[in-house]
Amino acid sequence: MTTSPRLVVATGNQHKVEEIRSILTPYFSEAILADIAPLGQFTREEPVEDGVTFEANSLIKARAACRLTGLPALADDSGITVDVLGGAPGVFSARWCGHHGDDRANRELLLAQLADVPDQHRGCAFVACVTLVLPDGREFATEGRVKGHLARQSSGSGGFGYDPIFVPDGFSVTTAQLSPAEKNALSHRGQAVRLMVEHLQELLGD
Ligand code: IMP
Repeated sequence: MTTSPRLVVATGNQHKVEEIRSILTPYFSEAILADIAPLGQFTREEPVEDGVTFEANSLIKARAACRLTGLPALADDSGITVDVLGGAPGVFSARWCGHHGDDRANRELLLAQLADVPDQHRGCAFVACVTLVLPDGREFATEGRVKGHLARQSSGSGGFGYDPIFVPDGFSVTTAQLSPAEKNALSHRGQAVRLMVEHLQELLGD
């Protein structure tokens, strides 16, 4: 990594940073990718995500990172939305079990809540809103969504969060059983980040 990053990724979630970096790999040189720094390189503090939409929370993170570093900032806010729960956990995905960031407890609670729900009503989706905030005040937002259904038990060790219980449409395995490249090719984050590539190329060159 160079000493002068040109873009900061506004997340403390190392899995997201890795996924974003590998999603961007086909579009940028190694040298440019090395200029993309995680926010953790600057601070451990994370802003309060008190928005009620993915876009609002994504903007909160990108604006805070841009303000703090003076650099263009890219943020991802994402989660799982379950049809029979009216779209929940949604923006509460990271803290569905009552506290922040306990992936196993979040999955177990969701599986228990849907224990009696038959297969045909287990539809859900992963949603991601990616935002880019520039020091000159310009802001861009993109969204990605992948539909699927909730498995009955956890399978696979790839990915993070709800991946072991999310089966994307057209597949019979969870996203935790896919390779990183397979997940990124179809994922909500992959879609949203790729929609942002044009703006990033304008910013960083290619
Ligand atoms: P955020 O970091 O506030 O956006 O919270 C996102 C939460 O949604 C994560 O903690 C995960 O629980 C879940 N999530 C988002 N994207 C994914 C994914 O790609 N796979 C599995 N879970 C995800």
